Amino acid sequence: MIRLGCHCGAEISFDDRQCPRCQKRLGFDPTDFCFYPIDQDGFVEGGGSSMDGRALCSNGQDYDACNWIRPAASQTSLCYGCEFNRYIPNLSRGHNLSLWRTLENNKKRLLFSLMGLGLPLSTRWECPDSGLFFDFLEDLHEEGNNEGSPITTGYLDGVITINVLEAEPISRIRQQQAAREVYRTVLGHMRHESGHYFYQHLTQDQGFQGQYEPIFGIASADYSEALNRYYRDGAAENWSESFISPYASAHPLEDWAETWGHYLHMYDTLETASNFFEHCTNPDRLSFDDKICAWGDLSTALNEMNRSLGMSDPYPFAINERVKDKLRFVNDSILALKTRKKSWAVDPPPS
Ligand SMILES: [Zn+2]
Ligand SMILES: [Zn+2]
Ligand SMILES: [Zn+2]
Repeated sequence: MIRLGCHCGAEISFDDRQCPRCQKRLGFDPTDFCFYPIDQDGFVEGGGSSMDGRALCSNGQDYDACNWIRPAASQTSLCYGCEFNRYIPNLSRGHNLSLWRTLENNKKRLLFSLMGLGLPLSTRWECPDSGLFFDFLEDLHEEGNNEGSPITTGYLDGVITINVLEAEPISRIRQQQAAREVYRTVLGHMRHESGHYFYQHLTQDQGFQGQYEPIFGIASADYSEALNRYYRDGAAENWSESFISPYASAHPLEDWAETWGHYLHMYDTLETASNFFEHCTNPDRLSFDDKICAWGDLSTALNEMNRSLGMSDPYPFAINERVKDKLRFVNDSILALKTRKKSWAVDPPPS
């Protein structure tokens, strides 16, 4: 994440809605990554020039669920980030409004990183065959009334589905304990699922599969059988020698998505560090090996700082040589997607 500020000079966090110093209501413009003051009617203040007509997203204006600005010429009243939504939960029920706000904040963080990495992004409204949708769905089944079917967080054909209960801390911790996971966050889910989406794009590139399979395994291996086995028998023995997490050992596609998610954790956190500390270099200016090296130092320091505060490790993972090779392949894949490189067979991407 980059460092952001209000026009009055105060430091503003990416999720903020209001300046703590001048008290102005603020909106974030995803076209220039800057905050702007918003007037009472929801428009960017100081119109009359190029700013004329830009306004706070209606999800921000009506529900305080978004702090992004929509363009003046917008077809809808939504910002770029909210355009990715297909379904949101019924806001008149329970805590859905506050859960949705949490989901939106995390989705915006994911989109910010994907945009920062220069990845091709479009909504499924714009590109019905290749675009992306988010479904934020309430699991009515879990309340015991047998309404609807259980909602599973996951990815299918361009749609990232998130069970809104993932935004509810107690429920999420219960799930984390049941699955014996050392890390479970809304942002982590979204990063993982975005990996499945971009994998689908990459498979259209000539030669991609041939380079992917020696590293991750056979992607066409029976998926439901593998997942059933994982949930029945647990992770592969000695999983930590080859995988970033136990779940990554379930199937090569899950290994890819877990590794992709970790690449985004690494990229975003290195970017944040470079914005706060002069001696840290922006990950865009680091080679892959230097990124891994910097991330080793930074994640160790993060864990130690948390321990100093009596808290648990924010990054309870170890990157061994096998995982490093997988992360390198994700790094190369992002480069390929960014440059719209379509052939992997003739000219392998630079490492
Ligand atoms: Zn201010
Ligand atoms: Zn919005
Ligand atoms: Zn997955």
